[in-house]
Amino acid sequence: VSALPTVCLVGAGASGITTARSLSARGMDFDWFDRGDRVGGIWVFGSASGTAAAYRQLHINVSRERIEFADYPMPRSLPTYPHHTQLAQYFEDYVRHFGLDRTLRLRTGVEHARLTADGRWEVETDGGERRVYDALVVANGHHSVPRWPTPRPPGEFAGEQIHSHDYRDDSVLRGRDVVVVGLGNSACDIAVESSLVARSTHLSVRRGAHVLPKTMWRWPYDQVPGLEYALGKGIGVGRFGFQVPWRLRQLWMTMGHRMAVGRMERYGLPNPTHPFGATHPTISPRLLDSLLHGRIAPKPVIERLDGDLVRFADGTAARADLIVWCTGYEIRLPFLEPDLVPVHADNRVDLYWNVFSPKVPSLAFVGLLQPAAGSTMQISEGQGKWVAAHLAGDYALPPQQEMWADIERRRRLAAKRYVASARHTVQVEQFDFLWRLRGELHRGRRRVRRGVPGVSARAAS
Ligand SMILES: Cc1cc2nc3c(=O)[nH]c(=O)nc-3n(C[C@H](O)[C@H](O)[C@H](O)COP(=O)(O)OP(=O)(O)OC[C@H]3O[C@@H](n4cnc5c(N)ncnc54)[C@H](O)[C@@H]3O)c2cc1C
Repeated sequence: VSALPTVCLVGAGASGITTARSLSARGMDFDWFDRGDRVGGIWVFGSASGTAAAYRQLHINVSRERIEFADYPMPRSLPTYPHHTQLAQYFEDYVRHFGLDRTLRLRTGVEHARLTADGRWEVETDGGERRVYDALVVANGHHSVPRWPTPRPPGEFAGEQIHSHDYRDDSVLRGRDVVVVGLGNSACDIAVESSLVARSTHLSVRRGAHVLPKTMWRWPYDQVPGLEYALGKGIGVGRFGFQVPWRLRQLWMTMGHRMAVGRMERYGLPNPTHPFGATHPTISPRLLDSLLHGRIAPKPVIERLDGDLVRFADGTAARADLIVWCTGYEIRLPFLEPDLVPVHADNRVDLYWNVFSPKVPSLAFVGLLQPAAGSTMQISEGQGKWVAAHLAGDYALPPQQEMWADIERRRRLAAKRYVASARHTVQVEQFDFLWRLRGELHRGRRRVRRGVPGVSARAAS
């Protein structure tokens, strides 16, 4: 009898495929489901999953070297910031290269995953098939359920309102008077596309952001030499390693941004009142250009909707027939019992390092994060390896109360570091995470040697 647990893996986006690779590299027996018709998750334009958020002109805003998986470099023939079609192709090639497609069941959704009395998982697919597994790994993404502003601005709007999740291409913007709400990456992309084809484009922002260009001096912005140390990579090794203190890192990044881009008021945007690093980064050189060209008019928050007028908090108003709300996404885990891993109203999910449920060690999440600089791909790759080590019995989790204490400590830290917002409750800093993970894997191996039981020990018994 194999000592390795049987595993059900949900999702074949970037996070799912790298996890499948790690499970497969350890010789684990797993079933793998995705409701879409291709691997790649949100990067599959027009996916049959019906939930993918890619729009026609979407390019990733993290550079090639910061996206690629360690054991499968991206072809250097690809542009520095690939298009969604190139990314989806890379993910598909990755899956085929490692022979993972043999395990994957596409067009198959997981409807329910129920924890049984003996601590195993009964999984039911949308085809009505049921199977029991020792462990469940969830990589279902969190960009498929739109988050709308609450409360919505008062008043009635005579025009059309859409969420960025449903934006596909500029045909919806042509010749219209458009108000785009938000200053995240999708808001910037859509406002820029609107500025080229719409009659007018207003950009309504709640707070300032340190908008970054895609290159700084001679490098892609995320490859400026030494930046990884400002982003939390440690210096030195093992016990003798240390990280640059957070405040110094913030100062370093704020100064770098100020030198390369200048104050945001130069572009007509409010100057952020928070330091660099306190919000998810916005990368959009095209927004900066469009603002300087006068093609986009920045505005504060919407105070009221009034027929074909949108009234803003500064007392001004704009005629509009389309509002595009770029207000983010809700985290949802619809196939799990709600009280097993509660998702709070602010998108807070209480997991150990965003990965493990302290209550149920046979349940893990990959990709339940918002990268603060860096890419989801490389963080998910680290998480996938960690989960595989845990399931294979090479790593043991700390005791439950230690995990809860860590969750609480991280929540307090996040409250100090980041602007309070639903998108920052799952914020993870790539270099910081990967640096600390090395230490945690080491501690987990020591726990195994001390005889702390893992999931695989239970599977063997
Ligand atoms: C418009 C947009 C732009 C983005 N740009 C960037 C960027 O530039 N850089 C960056 O790092 N991140 C970016 N992101 C974040 C993006 O989500 C990550 O890059 C990454 O693709 C997430 O991968 P994932 O596998 O975790 O999730 P997803 O890509 O969402 O994949 C989840 C998969 O799970 C499947 N699934 C879900 N539920 C079930 C179920 N019940 N049963 C079976 N299958 C299921 C879905 O079909 C999907 O294929 C962007 C997101 C959006 C929406």
